[in-house]
Amino acid sequence: MPTRNRSTDACPGVLATHQAADGAVARVRVPGGQLTAAAFAAIAGSAAELGDGTIELTSRANLQARGLADGEELSARLSAAGLLPSATHERVRNVLASPLTGRDGAGLADVRPLVADLDRALCARSALAALPGRFLFAVDDGRGDVAWLDADVAAVLTSENTAAVLLAGVDAGLRAPLAGVVDLLLRCAETFLTLRDDEWRLAELPAGPERIAAHLPRPACPGGAPRNSERPEGDRQGIGRVAQVDGRVALVVGAPLGWLDRGQAAALVATGAPLVVTPWRRLVVADLPPDRADAVADRLRRAGLLLDPADPVARVTACTGRPGCAKALADVRAAAAPVPGTTLPVHWSGCARRCGRPRGTVVDVVATGHGYSVTEGDR
Ligand code: SF4
Repeated sequence: MPTRNRSTDACPGVLATHQAADGAVARVRVPGGQLTAAAFAAIAGSAAELGDGTIELTSRANLQARGLADGEELSARLSAAGLLPSATHERVRNVLASPLTGRDGAGLADVRPLVADLDRALCARSALAALPGRFLFAVDDGRGDVAWLDADVAAVLTSENTAAVLLAGVDAGLRAPLAGVVDLLLRCAETFLTLRDDEWRLAELPAGPERIAAHLPRPACPGGAPRNSERPEGDRQGIGRVAQVDGRVALVVGAPLGWLDRGQAAALVATGAPLVVTPWRRLVVADLPPDRADAVADRLRRAGLLLDPADPVARVTACTGRPGCAKALADVRAAAAPVPGTTLPVHWSGCARRCGRPRGTVVDVVATGHGYSVTEGDR
């Protein structure tokens, strides 16, 4: 795996934006993908008033606003909304979590409190501000949906009280009771920092999982093996209506090409519901009273959001492409469309870097400068 010099860590945040061809891009970290209605309203309002109004959903369940002119005003607004709890650790708050945890009853426990504890503890350990902006944590509630999504360090529940900790997807035997999981995850990250040279990711560190595990005490907690130990396919979460265990309803909503336009963002704000950003570049509109869910779904559909599980457009994503990305060889967002004859996710890219590509088996449509190459595979 190629390595880069640590001085070139250019992952954008809100306080340090990325200058794209269409203006500044700010990436808002959303640990666990969990957003209150007020927090999403702050992002949507900022994107509409300070940027070009679009919001990108990323494959790490974060959000990006584009075309921004006033970075200071953006950070003031997002700070006021509680979205920037640490200036020093802003870009390292990369935490995936099972998007429907605690709501649909499919996991072994609700890991939302664990994610909140992890985020607080991460920000409280000053050394961890030095983590690369690409370093990724994951907390999987045992269903196996996010543990193998390329996280550097992932906790996977093995019972409602125990977890296994995977290192770059490798089970090196680390186990902890739930009360000790956050500390174990962070000690793994700290050990990575002491061992790394120019590596950005744990998978780039030679014998990384074994060397990190060797630095940590052997588990006193027995715990079993995590369920679902195989890499998932690219699309693990269909869109549509989900019954919550508390009697309310969640709507899993697709955004065309993984982007929200101004009107779609406004329609989501108008639901007044908490949202969850998923690593499949979708949104869960959560906690809806059952008698409101159909009306909300109709309004979101009218705004252009996707709720039909059979809609092939819901499986298509695309990178920024022209004109927003200077590296792009084509305007892929204008060209992107379903590929006939496949039920796999389809990702359109303006160059071979394939930014935003879903994990797992995917149909890749990549601009070559003379058209597009179409291939199917994993990477
Ligand atoms: S895949 Fe290439 S064209 Fe698309 S956003 Fe990434 S660098 Fe730009």
